[in-house]
Amino acid sequence: MNFEYFMPSRILFGPGKLNELSKIKLPGKKALIVISNGTSMRKYGYLDRVISLLKENNVESVVFDKILPNPVKSHVMEGAELAKTENCDFVIGLGGGSSIDSAKSIAVMAKNPGDYWDYISGGTGKGKPVENGALPIVAITTTAGTGTEADPWTVITKEDTNEKIGFGVKETFPFLSIVDPELMVSVPPKLTAYQGFDAFFHSAEGYIASIATPISDMYALKSIELLAKYLPVAVNDGNNIEARTNVALANTLAGFVESTSSCTSEHSMEHALSAFHPDLPHGAGLIMLSEAYFTFFADKVPDRLADMARAMGEDADSLPEAERPKAFIRALKNLQKKCGVDNLKMSDFGIRREDIPKLAENARHTMGGLFAVDPYKLSFEETVKILENAYK
Ligand SMILES: [Zn+2]
Repeated sequence: MNFEYFMPSRILFGPGKLNELSKIKLPGKKALIVISNGTSMRKYGYLDRVISLLKENNVESVVFDKILPNPVKSHVMEGAELAKTENCDFVIGLGGGSSIDSAKSIAVMAKNPGDYWDYISGGTGKGKPVENGALPIVAITTTAGTGTEADPWTVITKEDTNEKIGFGVKETFPFLSIVDPELMVSVPPKLTAYQGFDAFFHSAEGYIASIATPISDMYALKSIELLAKYLPVAVNDGNNIEARTNVALANTLAGFVESTSSCTSEHSMEHALSAFHPDLPHGAGLIMLSEAYFTFFADKVPDRLADMARAMGEDADSLPEAERPKAFIRALKNLQKKCGVDNLKMSDFGIRREDIPKLAENARHTMGGLFAVDPYKLSFEETVKILENAYK
């Protein structure tokens, strides 16, 4: 047993916690607020609330509102330029994973020279060290999906080469994260399900990863248990604050899993799908891959799958030992059904069967690091096989 535990982010969790932004000590006097190009942050009044709470706290702010659902490198560079010209002391990501991830990447480029891809490892990235750290990051999450408020990771796509790659350094752990489930009641059912399943797979992949630790295991199983119980409730009754709170907690725990273990190659494969098909929501891509993916690993890590089945309330122990991993697959499909996302098809998102080798190649080239922490080393042919088995 041999591991390091590092989780430096301060997290304010619970309904109504956003109000503390008016009095909590912040890392400067001027903030760049990063939001998506959609309407929800303004429509639901979240942006106005954040600006006025900051004002009460004597903090000025500037808004950068261009972030796409699959965020791109050019907006990172543009946001960093704005942070520099406006002399911002810190960056606030307000919204879902896209906005918070972009805030992290902008915070890095506001303090480091050159191009963002100079610092990316994998694909065509140059893998240079981040020498000047990053501006402090405040994450205010209005969704429960990526866990980005509790991990150092940010995922950005380089548009011209279809590379969607994760990146993070110790300075991209948020300085402060506010997880207020009251901000999540406005998320529509479909997105609630996609995001919830993203959190689910951060935990499930982190649980089977070869670098899992006793700490990440605790977070992963608790997160899986909470999602199995509360995600269908939150999907079917978005105003149920108890369900929203428990799903938010599961998501933050899944972020801890990403900080202490790692996602595995299911995420590499999904990034390939959504790099070529930016309209495909990340969580939907994972759902479409998941049955084939975990079925492939069932006989590689049977005990791990059986543990996850138990966490989801399955009576795995009543089955013969060899059958227990199947209880996880059954529970996974059942949860997808309860959330109304069991009939997603790659072909509906424009993915063609003949593209599978290209997608497998992209997954292994851009996000090869996650293949390295799989509990079993997948070959190229096996990667293709999983994608083919997942294809509908
Ligand atoms: Zn994810």
